[in-house]
Amino acid sequence: MTKHIAVIGAGVVGVTSAYELAAAGHTVSVFERGGTIGGAASFAPAGMDGPGWALGWSALSTCGGRLPRVSLGAHPQNWVWGARWLHAHRRSALPLLQQRVRRLAVYSLERTQELTRSLKLEFEHSTGVLVLSRSAAETKRMNAALAAFEQLGVPHRRVAVDECLVVEPGLHVESPPDAAAYLPQEGTANCREFTHLMRQHADRLGVRFVFHTQVAAISAGERPVLTLRSTAPSATGGPAHDLAATVERATFDAIVVCGALGSLPLLAACGLRLPMAALQGHSVTLPLRLDDVTAQSVGPRSAVIDAGERISITRSGSRVRVAAVSRLGRQPVADERAASQRLYRALDHWFPGCARVSQSQHWAGSCPALPDGLPLIGASGIPGVWLNLGHGDTGWAMACGSARVLADAITQRTPDIDVDGLGVERLRG
Ligand SMILES: Cc1cc2nc3c(=O)[nH]c(=O)nc-3n(C[C@H](O)[C@H](O)[C@H](O)COP(=O)(O)OP(=O)(O)OC[C@H]3O[C@@H](n4cnc5c(N)ncnc54)[C@H](O)[C@@H]3O)c2cc1C
Repeated sequence: MTKHIAVIGAGVVGVTSAYELAAAGHTVSVFERGGTIGGAASFAPAGMDGPGWALGWSALSTCGGRLPRVSLGAHPQNWVWGARWLHAHRRSALPLLQQRVRRLAVYSLERTQELTRSLKLEFEHSTGVLVLSRSAAETKRMNAALAAFEQLGVPHRRVAVDECLVVEPGLHVESPPDAAAYLPQEGTANCREFTHLMRQHADRLGVRFVFHTQVAAISAGERPVLTLRSTAPSATGGPAHDLAATVERATFDAIVVCGALGSLPLLAACGLRLPMAALQGHSVTLPLRLDDVTAQSVGPRSAVIDAGERISITRSGSRVRVAAVSRLGRQPVADERAASQRLYRALDHWFPGCARVSQSQHWAGSCPALPDGLPLIGASGIPGVWLNLGHGDTGWAMACGSARVLADAITQRTPDIDVDGLGVERLRG
């Protein structure tokens, strides 16, 4: 039966969900408090995708059982989240958790490829990722992750140091890695560009995008109601001041919450408190230099992951992007500076001088994550309210698969994959 569905949030998850719901025959309206598509966490992430990226954290946890390279900050709630992370990644739980992550990531990659083919999408992307370690200690951890990949059937091969230069000729010969591995199935893409293309296709299917509109409240029920508040700038450029005049209510058959961090207060007001923490990260994007002799740009051809730092260095058209998620919760300004310096140092280590630092663009983003690292997809338990959120630093890698799983659930179609463990019920266990 065709439903009138509201989607909250126009990031990559909201836009792909809107597309899949419209493709399944529903009438869809997307409400976005900002003025554009992909303006929040989907703006400038590294854009890594594939099962190896999605499994990264849990695979690294097999070695040493600790949260890799993420600072918990001072807030006690973050430490509770960290303890839950360790519990979710305990040895006995890991095989099932990793199977679930892998299943959704592989499906998502297939869905992205299928959409790219069938809709003839053209966006910046490349395939193949080189993982590099700098020291024996890092190599030990990388080997543990590769052993997990082996068991889970994630394609990979070890690469001799010489061969690294064949894969990525721009690598700095003076700082060879201690060890390296190549993941042929993994890739990197411009998440924001993809999101804009999917918006165009959603438009063609009749999806209505409503910008500058904050969902202020959800009234649950068989026909749930949204309270909408305009966030459009006033004539003077500031926020709209006559709030009473800009509030309206709209009724739907179903509401899908894809508002990432902005979803949490809305759901909490409906009685659903999610144990999510904000993963905070940064990226810097810089124009690549051209080699004086060959006039070719130097820098990465595709993507490199600095295994010890979990920093990714990716090619995005004629630019290079360096990114990492580094802590939970809000970052003090001094730490932000240190986080960006870490990114420049990694670029300088692996590809010195490849880009114009004076023209770099800095971006900070945050995305909610559950301790087990999987998103929440499906019915929320609140009448009329559905969820697709909490993707942590795998939101691009998981978006297309999550969107299809969600649309199948709402449409009561049999999903293509086993969706056990993706829903809200797992939080009650
Ligand atoms: C530094 C960094 C690097 C990353 N690298 C990768 C990577 O390599 N690979 C990968 O897969 N992922 C990566 N990620 C994660 C990825 O960027 C996110 O998981 C993904 O963009 C989340 O998409 P989303 O649509 O859920 O959220 P968002 O893009 O944040 O969209 C949510 C939207 O909802 C809107 N909204 C919220 N509340 C409301 C409301 N009440 N009313 C109306 N609108 C609302 C917001 O304005 C926003 O536009 C990275 C993240 C960071 C920070």
